[in-house]
Amino acid sequence: MSNTEYLYGKNPTELAALCGELGLPRFAAGQIARWLYRRHVEEPRRMSDLPAAARERLAERFAPALAAPERTSVSADGTKKYLYRTLRGAYIESAYIPDGERATLCVSSQAGCRMGCAFCATGRQGLNHSLSAAEILNQIVSLPERDRLTNLVFMGMGEPLDNADNVLRALEILTSDWGWGWSPTRITLSTAGIAPQLPRLLESTRVHLAVSLHNPFPEERAAIMPVERAYPIREVAELLRRYDFTHQRRISFEYIVLSGLNDTPRHIRELCRLLNGIKCRINLIRFHKIPGSPFFSPGDDAMIRFRDTLTAKGIQTTIRASRGEDIQAACGLLSTEAAAPHANGRGPAR
Ligand code: SF4
Repeated sequence: MSNTEYLYGKNPTELAALCGELGLPRFAAGQIARWLYRRHVEEPRRMSDLPAAARERLAERFAPALAAPERTSVSADGTKKYLYRTLRGAYIESAYIPDGERATLCVSSQAGCRMGCAFCATGRQGLNHSLSAAEILNQIVSLPERDRLTNLVFMGMGEPLDNADNVLRALEILTSDWGWGWSPTRITLSTAGIAPQLPRLLESTRVHLAVSLHNPFPEERAAIMPVERAYPIREVAELLRRYDFTHQRRISFEYIVLSGLNDTPRHIRELCRLLNGIKCRINLIRFHKIPGSPFFSPGDDAMIRFRDTLTAKGIQTTIRASRGEDIQAACGLLSTEAAAPHANGRGPAR
């Protein structure tokens, strides 16, 4: 790994220490933060309210971290998939999903993923590296449609809580007054359920939470999500029961429906038992075929019946619209294996 230093991604404490080193007053840290996170300028020579000598020293010391996407794919439904090169030379993808007044960016937190979920193209690729806060934020700053964005979902490549330090830093920059100033209610983080990191996320942020569930039975879930063996969903549900999801913060459970494997009456009964006492919603997701996978999505009628049965049992259930399937941007399809053939670290997390 290189020793190159980047200014983008630093928090006020680090910027204040830097200002101390440069002999600048403390308030200069706020000025730098404003350039970085409000004006989206990382080139120190353009920070016109800093003394010229300090600008020069910053420019000599820090390399640029922000870079435009290298490739764009456009779906017939308007979704766009962007390919970004990371600072370490790997590749990641983000999906921009316009929908009327709303425009959502699906952000990646890792180049690849080591969780090994059987239904996911990113999981097959293995982990190349976790993204720094700057690499996470670059997907947003350098997005051509940045100013149209209304929502962010951390549902792209990678498991965000397998990179908790950098993801939490990115969230802090996004939601702080000294940072981008976004409301946390515009952000959702999706996790496979990395239990040790959940309290930290829930106590240090107010973002919405989505938990990838996909099967309520431990053995069946472990067969498609190896993370179940390290952090059983029953323990995750127990932990979540201790938090309040009624005020401003929402929790949803994501459920890729696999025909005949997780959509039977037995699964419905167990889902009700598992989620009892958690004020939540279930988001049903169509399975998008990846080469060689043995799974199938049920037809639309069966999806609707499954949704209606769960709703009748008292769990608010919705079906997520599939977007960008024709450009491999839909749920579970993001992969940069072709762009980064040397990804390593393949296999389940633990
Ligand atoms: S579904 Fe998410 S956690 Fe599972 S392998 Fe894919 S990216 Fe990783």
